[in-house]
Amino acid sequence: MRAELLQKELGIFTFQDLLEHFPYRHLDRTKINLIRDIDVSTEYIQVAGKVIGVELLGDKRSRRLVAELRDASGTLELVWFQGIHGVQKFVQVGGEFLVYGRVSFFQGSPQLTHPEIEVLQGQGAAPPEFLEPVYPTTEKLKVRGLGGRQLGKLTQVLLNMLKEKDLPENLPASLLSYPDADTGVPKVWLSRYEAYRQVHFPTKPALFHQAVNRLKFEELFLAQLRLGLIKSKRHRSSHGVVFTQVGELFNRFYTHHLPFELTGAQKRVLKEIRRDTGSGRQMNRLLQGDVGSGKTMVALLSMLLAIDNGFQACLMAPTEILARQHYQGISALLKDLPLEVRLLTGSSRSKSRKEVLGLASEGKLHILIGTHAVLEEAVQFRRLGLAIVDEQHRFGVAQRARLWSKAEIPPHVLVMTATPIPRTLAMTAYGDLDYSVMDELPPGRQPISTVHRYEDRRPQVMDFIRHEIGKGRQAYVIFPLIEESETLDYENLERGYENIKAWFPEPKYWISRVDGRQKQEIRDTNMQRFLSGDTQIMVATTVIEVGVNVPNATVMVIESAEKFGLSQLHQLRGRVGRGTEKSFCILLTSPRLGKEARERMSILTETNNGFKIAEKDLEIRGPGDIEGTRQSGLLNFKLANIVQDRYWLELARDRAMELLEKDPDLEMEENKALKAFLQSQRGKTAWSKIS
Ligand code: ADP
Ligand code: MG
Repeated sequence: MRAELLQKELGIFTFQDLLEHFPYRHLDRTKINLIRDIDVSTEYIQVAGKVIGVELLGDKRSRRLVAELRDASGTLELVWFQGIHGVQKFVQVGGEFLVYGRVSFFQGSPQLTHPEIEVLQGQGAAPPEFLEPVYPTTEKLKVRGLGGRQLGKLTQVLLNMLKEKDLPENLPASLLSYPDADTGVPKVWLSRYEAYRQVHFPTKPALFHQAVNRLKFEELFLAQLRLGLIKSKRHRSSHGVVFTQVGELFNRFYTHHLPFELTGAQKRVLKEIRRDTGSGRQMNRLLQGDVGSGKTMVALLSMLLAIDNGFQACLMAPTEILARQHYQGISALLKDLPLEVRLLTGSSRSKSRKEVLGLASEGKLHILIGTHAVLEEAVQFRRLGLAIVDEQHRFGVAQRARLWSKAEIPPHVLVMTATPIPRTLAMTAYGDLDYSVMDELPPGRQPISTVHRYEDRRPQVMDFIRHEIGKGRQAYVIFPLIEESETLDYENLERGYENIKAWFPEPKYWISRVDGRQKQEIRDTNMQRFLSGDTQIMVATTVIEVGVNVPNATVMVIESAEKFGLSQLHQLRGRVGRGTEKSFCILLTSPRLGKEARERMSILTETNNGFKIAEKDLEIRGPGDIEGTRQSGLLNFKLANIVQDRYWLELARDRAMELLEKDPDLEMEENKALKAFLQSQRGKTAWSKIS
């Protein structure tokens, strides 16, 4: 019964699970608190004082013994419903006690029910050093007698049963020492066995910290090792199609149709891609570039490379609008080349869909651009050589894998992120991929000026837009759209739109409105009118978030900016500053801002660097919330946290790489235990069931 509840409520199936159900904190039983310090957030407390009154209250069922305990700061009630007789003998007026228990409130005053209580020793005799673990639990478990403390007891029983050999060392001997995080001085890890004991029931705070660090390192190291193994196995065994040459199409485009000189970063990444695709193994590369760094051109040139070598290519975008825009942009650039470029999205008409499918399977189609629709079973290529995924943040790992099944020999895969992700995150979430960074913007770009304004400055903001439009520029006004309150958001959008229309009346001004509720045709038309400059203002929801490219737009106003996350704001801001004119981003917020929102606004006004912003975002929000990584499961560490434990992560990464370099298949004697451990961890270890 209890076992079943533990499984359901906490996912604890095995002894191992129980051991890995770590306490989220420890109570320091050596510490004596003041009664005055109790507040609603206090869970457990230890106090010392004198009993100044004992009373037996209620009758029969509600019979209880209530003692009043006083210390220098106040008084507290101690309550017993059971064992009253024994307690009465022990707890008497005038006695001094050390009391420990869980705090509850009764009619507004704090009390401890059934506390642990002992006679207070004379001055100086400190209570025994003991850190009591507090475990995460659920209400359901609590009422079934499996609260935090009972879980502790269960864990203690288990630990007492386990011998050193039950929790054998899994790190190879060479990894048992490590440089201390603060001093760099070499230290030796606690053994695995000792670490588990200390992490639950530390005998000293210092040992607890050593234990936690050891287990964090182990966790990160194993994760890095797994990723490293996947990567190195693929490097050695996966064979990929080979692009031997840079051919006619690539050269023709490069010399006659390339609208600008490539940046150094673009050239470098293209070289990396050429090297990968010529190597005979399958490319799996993550391309990180800041907003506006010119990833699309890299994608296009890579696709030409594939076609020159007799292969087909596809480019996938996360939204219909973005797919369309890529399609239009790329078709225009390639219009003088003898290439078949097609679009496939969820809303493609069945006739054109059939045609596209036919062309793809016959091999007559050179480039397919589309949304997730490209992943459907029905889409079969004759010779797919390269698949590019744009704006990876919204693409799951599983979807990436589906691309590979589109051809007998898996195509090369290039994944391009929408906004940079922090290095630590990339290391863990995409550690199985090779990695390129474009940290350079095309020349001639002026940095975007970003300002934060409260809503009462709206008139000035509107004047500013008018001024820019007067110079022939265009502006975006973005409204938040958050799913949970969709209707409300649309009302806001509606009101906002009317408001903007009042500031910018027709026929002098024209406004495009774009939101997710519109019919595809309407949305496209409105979008198109803004692209071609027929409208000067676009009022939109975040549907335009990624990728949209209108170089003439120089103003981005973000309404209720406090409702967006940092990366999203950066991504939105990236819609301006794409041409040579000076661009502006105005973050409009309510004057009542929380600390965190204020911090976000100030980071954005301070820097345009997406890599820095991504680091901050991770710091503020934590890894769990970073879009697109949540479902990957790769960041669900039990103890480690990739923000706070950066030191251990980098150490783990380095050690894992060193080890794999020396022993790529973990065949050396010293890595035997490690290998066996990794194998035993595959899937759920049915170590032993909890009875
Ligand atoms: P992102 O990396 O955000 O996808 P895009 O590929 O949309 O960026 O490129 C942003 C803009 O920069 C586009 O207008 C594109 O034509 C232009 N661009 C790309 N590369 C260069 C370059 N080397 N020199 C000048 N402009 C460039
Ligand atoms: Mg892009």
